[in-house]
Amino acid sequence: MLLRGKCHCGNISLALETALDAQALPLRACQCSFCRMHGVRTTSDPAGRLRFEIADPAVLSRYRFGLATADFLICGRCGAYAGALMSEGEKAWGVVNANLLAEPLTREPEPVSYEGETAAERIARRKQRWTPAELSLPPRAGSKRSSRTGSRRRRP
Ligand SMILES: [Zn+2]
Repeated sequence: MLLRGKCHCGNISLALETALDAQALPLRACQCSFCRMHGVRTTSDPAGRLRFEIADPAVLSRYRFGLATADFLICGRCGAYAGALMSEGEKAWGVVNANLLAEPLTREPEPVSYEGETAAERIARRKQRWTPAELSLPPRAGSKRSSRTGSRRRRP
């Protein structure tokens, strides 16, 4: 199924493709100060696909903290936290803030703490548990649309 969500103003859209039922997805409440402040409940499916779509990158905030191994995507217009993205070369993995999903996940999240992880441990855990992901930005203003039709993937 395809789960969709967006930030309050619609600048950040997310689409999570998963074979799991929405209610069968893991639901985690990270206990770090950032996630507690936002009341975040995250979900991911390592067998799924995740896509963040940004309407206006000028009002996308990529916040980094702690070990700075991922970008926390925050809408600079409405302030919503949409999820996190970790990149390595051409690959990326992400989690979504389940609170943004159109289909509400109502059960209680599992509290988790990743304190004490090294950067390498953190990266390895995310590769295992997060969803293969991509960040989709609009074509640059001024560039011809015709040259960017179809796939938005980078050219080899
Ligand atoms: Zn927004």
